Amino acid sequence: MSPVASSSIDSLTRLFAAHKARSLRLRTQPLNERKRLLKDFEKYFAAQRTRIQQAVFADFGKPATEVDMSEVYPVLTELRHTLANIDEWAAPEDIDTPLTYLGSSSEVRCEPKGVCLIISPWNFPVNICFGPLVSALAAGNTAFIKPSEYTPHTSRLVRDMVNEFFDEDLVTVVEGGVDETRELLRLPFDHIFFTGSPQVGKVVMRAAAENLTSVTLELGGKSPTIIDETANLKDAAKRVAFGKFLNNGQTCIAPDHIWVHETVAEEWQQLLVAEVKKLFGDGDHINEQSPSYGRVVSDKHFARLYDMVDEALQRGATVRLTGEHNVATRFMHPVVLANVPPDARLMEEEVFGPVLPVLTYQNLDDVIVHINAHPKPLALYVFSSSKSTQERLLQLTSSGTVCVNDCITQYTHPNLPFGGVNNSGIGKAHGKYSFIAFSNEKPVLRQKRGFALPYLLHPPYTESVKRSVNLMLNWF
Ligand code: NAD
Repeated sequence: MSPVASSSIDSLTRLFAAHKARSLRLRTQPLNERKRLLKDFEKYFAAQRTRIQQAVFADFGKPATEVDMSEVYPVLTELRHTLANIDEWAAPEDIDTPLTYLGSSSEVRCEPKGVCLIISPWNFPVNICFGPLVSALAAGNTAFIKPSEYTPHTSRLVRDMVNEFFDEDLVTVVEGGVDETRELLRLPFDHIFFTGSPQVGKVVMRAAAENLTSVTLELGGKSPTIIDETANLKDAAKRVAFGKFLNNGQTCIAPDHIWVHETVAEEWQQLLVAEVKKLFGDGDHINEQSPSYGRVVSDKHFARLYDMVDEALQRGATVRLTGEHNVATRFMHPVVLANVPPDARLMEEEVFGPVLPVLTYQNLDDVIVHINAHPKPLALYVFSSSKSTQERLLQLTSSGTVCVNDCITQYTHPNLPFGGVNNSGIGKAHGKYSFIAFSNEKPVLRQKRGFALPYLLHPPYTESVKRSVNLMLNWF
């Protein structure tokens, strides 16, 4: 028996039917109506800034400016970029006619998929609910959103905002955890946009297979960062310090671990430690009073990180940076560890917290072998002035995204696709790529009346048809 009350299941089924009916009506809605909705939502969303800051702070102590940067701004850019480009994305694309189709005309038009499901993680709990929603609506769909149970203040706010702004049969928020998500996944959605871990990604894809629902899976994994002997070490320290400890390290594309060339390893680690103290403390110490440093999301996540650090230390890792932690408030001081054994848990699981393992290398080939022996990363970072190092890593490894001489910034580039590959994800998102993910790219061929060249191939297969087929095989 399902652990979700049957009355809730009935109401989900009724809501789904209402969405289905609305989605059919949306198919004939003029594009201007979609644009008007998105414009109004932009105004409404921007006005919720303080509520969003408060909810995310209540869930995991994220500083208000970081909330503005990583939750509010990405949704506003998605809205603005979509509004600026939707005419072009939604317009039917004329397709060239080859000689064999002389007289016909063809186009590809993006039609809405229908009723979509957006399942979100807790680490960017506003951004990853509303970002995909913008694209789903822009493409003419209705959507259900399932926010994460680990950020209850934000999930409630997402529900309230949706209830305040959208009709219930256009956007519906279903709160809850695993059981509620399972119930939702039984419904025959037209597309599922899931963001979360690879393990749960597999659960979602299995459930989607039952209804042959298309999926976008935005997953995680370990994102390696390589710093070679030609890199600008100060730049690399600054950028890694920010990219790693932003959001308390709980970012899917945070540098997960560092490979630094042994000749510059000592200097780089000293620079890194100084940068981390500058960004998140007073230059000397980092403590709970830091106005720029968040918290681990839950006791469970805190204990997992603590255990992983403990295991690495017991197996010979050495501390380059640590400080006072507070289990009660889930304040975890930034931790930088050197000499982490390559088979430690910290090197096997996605770290996803404020702990950075640093490994040294002599030969880039060994790093490439290590990367290729593990699941394909979501992001790969390379800090190097050498074009040949950059090119070797680009050619010899596979990852969802790559950023050279920086980290994280590839995420917000509006014209770049974002997403993983295999274990780190399936499908791409953001801007035009999300619009397409939520659309069926429907080819339409319009044949001319009367005779058309393909008729030369129709049965009965006379000598003249055989001659036409030969001609086609040889020349067209
Ligand atoms: P998660 O996979 O545990 O949960 C994601 C969502 O799935 C939540 O809404 C949760 O309620 C639901 N869920 C959890 N277990 C489920 C189950 N057994 N059946 C059905 N639904 C289930 O992920 P998380 O801990 O919330 O987020 C962290 C993960 O997300 C990390 O791996 C991170 O790298 C990844 N992530 C990826 C991106 C990206 O854009 N690629 C962005 C943010 C986070």
